[in-house]
Amino acid sequence: MNTEAFVALGSNLADPPRQLERAREALGRLPGTRLVAASRSLRTAPVGPPGQPHYCNAVVRLRTRLAPFALLGALLEIETAQGRVRGAQPWGPRTLDLDLLLYGNLVLDDPRLTLPHPRLHARRFVLEPLAELAPELEVPGRGRVCDLLRRLDRQGRGRPVCRL
Ligand code: ADP
Ligand code: MG
Repeated sequence: MNTEAFVALGSNLADPPRQLERAREALGRLPGTRLVAASRSLRTAPVGPPGQPHYCNAVVRLRTRLAPFALLGALLEIETAQGRVRGAQPWGPRTLDLDLLLYGNLVLDDPRLTLPHPRLHARRFVLEPLAELAPELEVPGRGRVCDLLRRLDRQGRGRPVCRL
C-alpha cells in the first residue's frame, strides 16, 4: 500500500530555514517513501510561551509504504538527529518539530498518534502551506483545507504570516 501523507515542519532555533532543508532531505531518504511536493517556507510569529524567536514553517506531501506508527517513529528520529530536546515547556523553542498532519483518510485517537493532527484545523501556519499543496483536500471530520482557512479568516483568527 502506498499512502499519501502530509507532514508539518517547524523550527525556531539554530538556523530554522536550514533545519527545514535538512528535514526535507531526510524525509525524502526514508525507506519506501517519496517526497512528492514541498510548500514554500513561512516565517511565523511564535504560538505558545512568549519571548521565543520566530518560526520557520512548511508542509510536505509524501507517498509512503511505511505504516502510520513507523512513519511517526521515523519523524521523531529525524527530530532527534537534528538536535531536538523535549523540554518541560510545551510549545517551547525547538530545532525541529515534525507533525504528521494526515495519513490518507485515517482517523486515529491515540495519545501517541492522533490523526488528523488535532490542531491542524486551527493553525494558520499549518493551513496556509497545506493549502498551497492541496487546497481541495478533505480533512476527515473537519472539511476542505480551503474552507478551514477561510473560516480562520472570517474569525479574524491566527496571526499574519509572511513568506520567506
Ligand atoms: P507539539 O508538536 O504539540 O509541540 P511534540 O512535538 O513534543 O508536541 O509531540 C509530543 C507527542 O505528540 C509525540 O511524542 C507524539 O507521540 C504525539 N503525537 C500525537 N499525535 C501526533 C501527530 N499527529 N504528529 C506528531 N506527533 C503526534
Ligand atoms: Mg510535534
